[in-house]
Amino acid sequence: MKRRSFIKTGGISLVAFGAAPTLSFSQIQENEFSITELMGKANVDLYGEGINLRKPAHDAFLEMKKAAYSDGIDIKIVSSYRDFYRQEAIWEGKYQRYTDEDGMEPIAAIDKIIEYSTIPGTSRHHWGTDIDIIDGYRKTEGDVLVPEKFEAGGPFEDLKKWMDENSKKFDFHLVYTDDPKRKGFKYEPWHYSYAPISIPMLTAFRSKNIQALLEREEFMGIEHFTNGFVKSYIRNNILDINTDLL
Ligand SMILES: [Zn+2]
Repeated sequence: MKRRSFIKTGGISLVAFGAAPTLSFSQIQENEFSITELMGKANVDLYGEGINLRKPAHDAFLEMKKAAYSDGIDIKIVSSYRDFYRQEAIWEGKYQRYTDEDGMEPIAAIDKIIEYSTIPGTSRHHWGTDIDIIDGYRKTEGDVLVPEKFEAGGPFEDLKKWMDENSKKFDFHLVYTDDPKRKGFKYEPWHYSYAPISIPMLTAFRSKNIQALLEREEFMGIEHFTNGFVKSYIRNNILDINTDLL
């Protein structure tokens, strides 16, 4: 497969094995990411069936999965790369449901959507670096991505404990932590990010005029976005995350 232009590291290994991350953050320049790439509108090379991550993230994920296997845990990806149009469909589905079926006012509907879902074009899942995971060995009913299932007594308790102890060795970090002072998206014990690429991507993204980028879009509900809303969304939902990822 053709390599993306951002992989310009020459002889440096892009794969982080075990405890020592081998990829220096400075090897990836944030200005190597285009706006279309940051917003999930570019054709990104993704690796691994059912994995769908950029190459270095894919390789680190496989190493982490292997290590977890030997401890009796099957790290299974529920969601990884998602393009702009998929996020737009998720957004519009929720917007219609909350406004048409539940009769909510547009602004209240938008506030409810952004408890867990991102505005299209602003999802970390657009980057090919972020994953939502469960333990494939555990049988469970209903929705899997609910916080209680990762807590004591829940089916994914062991997975969460294992990730707390080990994920950083593979450069995966929890994004939306349970820090009570954190604003923006609610606690997501399932969402991890591959830091060596997502940090420079976030740096690149926040350097853009996100407000102006969103103004070009036409998805449902966007006419209700005010400047104040977008500013607080950037501050809270995009930037108020685990500080390891800033
Ligand atoms: Zn997620």
